[in-house]
Amino acid sequence: MNITLKTKGHTDIIDLTAKVGEVVKKSKINNGFALVFVTGSTAAITTLEYEVGVISDMKETLDKLIPEEFNYHHHQKWGDRNGAAHLKAAIIGPDLLLPIGDSALELGRWQQIVLIDFDERPREREIIVKCFNASLT
Ligand code: ZN
Repeated sequence: MNITLKTKGHTDIIDLTAKVGEVVKKSKINNGFALVFVTGSTAAITTLEYEVGVISDMKETLDKLIPEEFNYHHHQKWGDRNGAAHLKAAIIGPDLLLPIGDSALELGRWQQIVLIDFDERPREREIIVKCFNASLT
């Protein structure tokens, strides 16, 4: 099942926990895994504590490591301006594999699933969620 949503880009961090939880509930899987994957090379999926401090820290820290304003080789190749977005997305990664137990996601109390859109413009994103049983028999 897929989740589609609009983002603002520029390290837009969106809490996906409730939406992924709905997919898990509909899957009727009691004991297994949920794979969460974002298509595209300028967005990422991870977990963090979804509160304003961590959200700002995440954005500021990544911008220090990989600033948006820099003469990336990618800009010369395609004439676009999202070289930093590709690098940030690659470092964090496009997917997560999460355990399902008692028909629910087994997340920590302060652990939310987030989509981070690093692109330099608003985007519509598609997140693929696949749920499967732990038993392979
Ligand atoms: Zn690009």
